[in-house]
Amino acid sequence: MAEPTLPADLKPVEINTNAEIVLSKRYYRKGGDGKPVENSTQMFWRVASSIAEEENKYPKSTVPAETLARQFYDLMTEWKFLPNSPTLMNAGTDLGQLSACFVLPVGDSIEEIFDAVKFAAMIHKSGGGTGFSFSRLRPKEARVGSTGGVASGPVSFLRIFNTATEQIKQGGTRRGANMGILRVDHPDILEFIRAKEREGEFNNFNFSVALTEDFMKAVEKNEEYPLIAPHTKRERGRLNAREVFELLVRKAWESGDPGIVFLDRINRDNPTPTLGEIESTNPCGEQPLLPYEACNLGSVNLAKVFAPEKDAGVDWDELRRIIHLAVRFLDNVIDASQFPLERITEMVRMNRKIGLGVMGWADLLYQLRIPYNSQEAVHLAERVMEFVLEEGRAASRQLAKERGEFPAYAESVYAERGLGPFRNATITTIAPTGTLSIIAGCSSGIEPLFALSFARNVMDGERLVETNPYFEAALREEGCWSQKLMESIAAKGSVRQMADILPDSLRKVFVTAMDIEPVYHLKMQAAFQQYTDNAVSKTVNLPHDATVDDIRNIYWMAYEQGCKGVTVYRDGCLSSQVLCTGDSS
Ligand code: UDP
Repeated sequence: MAEPTLPADLKPVEINTNAEIVLSKRYYRKGGDGKPVENSTQMFWRVASSIAEEENKYPKSTVPAETLARQFYDLMTEWKFLPNSPTLMNAGTDLGQLSACFVLPVGDSIEEIFDAVKFAAMIHKSGGGTGFSFSRLRPKEARVGSTGGVASGPVSFLRIFNTATEQIKQGGTRRGANMGILRVDHPDILEFIRAKEREGEFNNFNFSVALTEDFMKAVEKNEEYPLIAPHTKRERGRLNAREVFELLVRKAWESGDPGIVFLDRINRDNPTPTLGEIESTNPCGEQPLLPYEACNLGSVNLAKVFAPEKDAGVDWDELRRIIHLAVRFLDNVIDASQFPLERITEMVRMNRKIGLGVMGWADLLYQLRIPYNSQEAVHLAERVMEFVLEEGRAASRQLAKERGEFPAYAESVYAERGLGPFRNATITTIAPTGTLSIIAGCSSGIEPLFALSFARNVMDGERLVETNPYFEAALREEGCWSQKLMESIAAKGSVRQMADILPDSLRKVFVTAMDIEPVYHLKMQAAFQQYTDNAVSKTVNLPHDATVDDIRNIYWMAYEQGCKGVTVYRDGCLSSQVLCTGDSS
């Protein structure tokens, strides 16, 4: 595709150094020699103009495409909103695959299993991540009719998916990410829970066990529960639920894997149950999808709506404006996106799911001087996310007026409940924003800062050092900034132990992931989940000395607080980790 012409009066992008490193490595269009042929201004204009152009398809559109292109460009380059990475990489290019999240079915036959391997490879090549449920596969040692042999079971097939992923690097540098899910009542569940015992095994997968309400009740009552062979629907043994839960907790303590997802809860929120059951999420867990469905995500940077003079310190009018533009952007992305499979195109166009979320939450709290681990922060989280959902729905209703509701609307739960009509079957999702937050220079998703000053290992050993700008500004304001102090904070990451040097007011506000009690990680996740159609990406980061009991409590709290799943990570439990403070790097 030809380079779009830049308008003469377009404001060039001002970009931070880390963002420039990431963009030039992975995002800029490259020429035959592998060198970038665009800069950040050209990249954002390519994305803004191609997504705005979709507007021309709709005669009832309220905004001309040229005006919209400028608005999208400003929205992104003022770091107020960014779409997920594949949109930045591929919009306006021949590849044109713009979604980060896919779920593929894995059927119980060699043909279907290898179809899924092939489809996953095609998706990874285009920059998307894939989730699969392996729950339909017959268990290990079950009979195979056509050969008279025995089946090798989900875990052995998972190895093939993992190896295939290894070989297909995304966009030259980014490896495909996968989610592998198995129902807790699958006969091979114990093997699955132990599958990542050896470090490095299944390194291209996150694993999650799909827990059912029946299973959770059996844990509570310390009862046995039946294992069901999916191909015969017959019982194939029983396990004590509490013992399985304990094993899960122990493995998560050892390596962070597997996580858990509450499958019944996810299906209770399935907006179109007549189109099928949800069996899996995308790789990081925030996007449950039907088989062959894809979803594109985008995130509002909350750090940019701080306004001390406004109600609760938030510029609600500006937030509303950003949300409405972002929903239009994400809906246009659906039309602009080209998928590697016709089945996926059909499913995506049927439900038109989008996932608008937030990032920069910890940065907003820092600016407001509200500690992350406080009830005040939890209340504000509810208020902000309720606003995002309400305004997101208003925007989707407006689009339905201009363009029609999503085709499966009539059979959706919204029609049944008299909500809508909407243009999109889901509107909100909270993504990890691993790369987007580097590009926007803000804290990621709804996570607390990992450290106030830290080194980040990204992309083949490249190391980025960052100090939180709001923290630095606060130190200067209080008159306690010094180079020496900055160095000692960089080494420690946290200021919790610095009572002798820093005032209490600062130490309370500038908390980092491991200063925060697990209960507040969970409360925050639950607060955002309440107003999120899809799910919330959140890791409960724990110090190295956290116990198995801590993990058990977290899993249980996640269940009780209405989360759709949870991921824990104990510092230093794996020898290679993405984020580290000065001391451990
Ligand atoms: N993802 C992926 N590979 C990666 C990172 C992300 O496939 O290396 C997908 C995956 O589905 C994940 C989703 O993108 O759940 C969103 O991740 P994140 O928000 O971190 O992506 P970003 O847009 O910031 O790159």
